[in-house]
Amino acid sequence: MTDIIIVGKGPAGWSCAMTARMRGLSVQVIAPQGDAGQLKLAERIDNYPGMPQVSGAEILKRFREQAIALGTEERNGLIRQIMPTGNGFMVLVENDVLESKTIVLAMGAARQKLLPGEEEQVGRGVSYCATCDGMFYRGKRIAVLSSTEQGVEEATFLASLVGELDYYSLKKHDITKLPELAKVIDEKPKGFGRDGQDLTMTTDQSTKKYDGVFVFRAGMPLGMLLNDLQTEGSYIPVDRMMNTNIPGVFAAGDCTGKPLQVPKAVGEGNVAAIAAAEYIAKHG
Ligand SMILES: Cc1cc2nc3c(=O)[nH]c(=O)nc-3n(C[C@H](O)[C@H](O)[C@H](O)COP(=O)(O)OP(=O)(O)OC[C@H]3O[C@@H](n4cnc5c(N)ncnc54)[C@H](O)[C@@H]3O)c2cc1C
Repeated sequence: MTDIIIVGKGPAGWSCAMTARMRGLSVQVIAPQGDAGQLKLAERIDNYPGMPQVSGAEILKRFREQAIALGTEERNGLIRQIMPTGNGFMVLVENDVLESKTIVLAMGAARQKLLPGEEEQVGRGVSYCATCDGMFYRGKRIAVLSSTEQGVEEATFLASLVGELDYYSLKKHDITKLPELAKVIDEKPKGFGRDGQDLTMTTDQSTKKYDGVFVFRAGMPLGMLLNDLQTEGSYIPVDRMMNTNIPGVFAAGDCTGKPLQVPKAVGEGNVAAIAAAEYIAKHG
């Protein structure tokens, strides 16, 4: 079991990892391959102490190198779900399950917008995890909505279970490797609802009924990642030690709210690591 799993490879995540390693904790920093967060887009940063006139990509490179040199374990993949287990957390990274004593959420400012009605239907037909929920739809009619090639992989797995599979692209991506069962629907999903017991999905052209709908985006909506995590709009409220409302879960960086700045993210990552170390020392 890892001491800390850090969600995100931005300044907050790397900073947290460095301090955690200095305290001898085992750390995994996880984010989708090639997605280093917002900072990579910045051409020039002038407000980070000690590194004047540097590009966002260069700062990130240096943060990463320093954290790896200190013994941080880096892993690629989107974290889809985090579940408390009583003595720690199970973390679903793509289709792998990892275990950790504490969690630091450092996934930047929310970039994912849900479809109207989506949140209400989670657990009632809408799912974000094919491996977790696919077996409930054996022989049934489902839809896969995806903004990335991840949806094609998940559709391939689901095609071995379900009876019918409609595929919707939320954003343009390569769908040439879709399984034979998948029927590509060239309509734009607009929202979810219910017709009695049935889950309905409205598009720009029609309303359809499905037994289940699997949604895959490049990031996870905040509230979907961790059940019962308290949020305020698109931010996670924290106290001065970066505690969220869930014991053992800390948050740092842009995801805790404004100002959205590198030095603030780095500072909060540092505090979150110290708080996680204290939590582990206390709870074992
Ligand atoms: C164009 C631009 C210019 C900027 N200029 C400046 C500036 O001059 N000075 C300054 O101080 N700030 C600047 N910023 C802001 C700065 O980039 C952010 O404040 C900073 O990057 C926040 O760091 P963070 O670690 O909180 O989040 P991010 O850097 O956004 O990193 C978030 C990480 O979380 C990962 N992630 C998200 N969801 C998941 C998930 N479910 N599973 C796994 N990983 C996940 C992402 O892939 C990413 O790796 C600028 C931002 C932009 C876009």
